[in-house]
Amino acid sequence: MRTVGGKNIALTIDDGPSPTYTPEYLRLLAKLHIKAVFCLIGENVQRYPNLVKQIVAGGHLLCNHTMHHDEHLGTKSTSTIHQDITATTAVIMKASGGVRPVFFRAPGGNWTSRLLAESRKVGLTPLDWSVDPRDWSRPGVAHITTVIKNAKPGSIILCHDGGGNRTQTYAALQKALPALKSRGLTFVTPRPE
Ligand SMILES: [Zn+2]
Repeated sequence: MRTVGGKNIALTIDDGPSPTYTPEYLRLLAKLHIKAVFCLIGENVQRYPNLVKQIVAGGHLLCNHTMHHDEHLGTKSTSTIHQDITATTAVIMKASGGVRPVFFRAPGGNWTSRLLAESRKVGLTPLDWSVDPRDWSRPGVAHITTVIKNAKPGSIILCHDGGGNRTQTYAALQKALPALKSRGLTFVTPRPE
């Protein structure tokens, strides 16, 4: 698992790309000069390949987040896992114009030793998180903002642009990201192995 040292923190954005939210997030991140990691779902990549190009053009890193976000993928056979991960990398590279995902993230954070081993075998660095506002459950802008603002040096923040209505997440990021920067924290992307 990656960590980020010093006064550094990292932002990871999951389950997209989303035609509704990804462009908004990209504009916000560009305005704030923040580079993030986008954890992409293969079936969404196939639907919205141009969004992957926009993510890459913004200087962000790509993470393989499996074809269909099957939270039980880690319990399946080695060959099923291998096929899913390699197929997802292939669709991401096709959409990105050849830019590789460098990380792998288990759907739901449901890591198994097989999932870790298979992702490493194809050159992907496992990427977890340490700050989880559970924004996908839409707990309210105030809650999401507070949890993200409580990030500490070294934190890897999880939030979502895909998978549903992310209006709350976007509103929270608009407040929390400048607040973290003004505390002297620097957004970096985790370094792949
Ligand atoms: Zn996810």
